[in-house]
Amino acid sequence: MGKQRLDKVLAHLGYGTRSELKKLVKSKAVKVNEVIIKDSGVQVDPEMDRIEVYGERIVYREFVYLMLNKPQGVVSATEDTRDRTVVDLLPDEFKPFDVFPVGRLDKDTEGLLLLTNDGKLSHNLLSPRKHVPKTYYAKVLGEVGQADRIAFQDGVTLDDGYKTKSAELTILKVELQECGHVSDIELTITEGKFHQVKRMFEAVGKKVIYLQRLSMGPLQLDPQLALGESRELTADELSLLQ
Ligand code: URA
Repeated sequence: MGKQRLDKVLAHLGYGTRSELKKLVKSKAVKVNEVIIKDSGVQVDPEMDRIEVYGERIVYREFVYLMLNKPQGVVSATEDTRDRTVVDLLPDEFKPFDVFPVGRLDKDTEGLLLLTNDGKLSHNLLSPRKHVPKTYYAKVLGEVGQADRIAFQDGVTLDDGYKTKSAELTILKVELQECGHVSDIELTITEGKFHQVKRMFEAVGKKVIYLQRLSMGPLQLDPQLALGESRELTADELSLLQ
């Protein structure tokens, strides 16, 4: 990691803007290795030096990894002129870390979304060459059957002519409701084309009416997380991803 400006380190951890930090340092609130600091631009090693703010040692970390149970109605982006974003749902303490969503879920899709500021991990999870499996639960209008399972296994042709890679379909339940047959399914895909799950069902003449992501690679949606809630990954979850 090496040396960085003290104000940059503290800003990254959410202690304030550069000008606020200048004032904080002037007020003698910050010590580095037991010495009161006067210059907020002093070089420090945040992992090696003992940095204290009002007598409390700071815990430095470069990266954060968050699991969000994304609700419907928010977009998988960091900023949007019209809609609320997934980043708007995070607790304030994570705002300074500049996290971004790892991939996208549609505005009307719920479920597992990983957010991080670790570009390398994000790139690895999204790289088409890594074929990271993603499992979705869906409610589908129509009677999903064995022919669809085989079609998805063989690959179906989407509206733009793209043939999907082999995907695993599990049919959980097919019910006759007022609107017709509704099927509950799970689908695991190893790629991430735009609206892929919805378009795969369109390719077999059916319509997804509810979609939720359950897992991404080894990471599973925590059933304890209510819609809109997030938490940091555990050390075990993180080690599975790295
Ligand atoms: N497939 C879709 O159609 N939508 C999503 O949000 C994710 C996968």
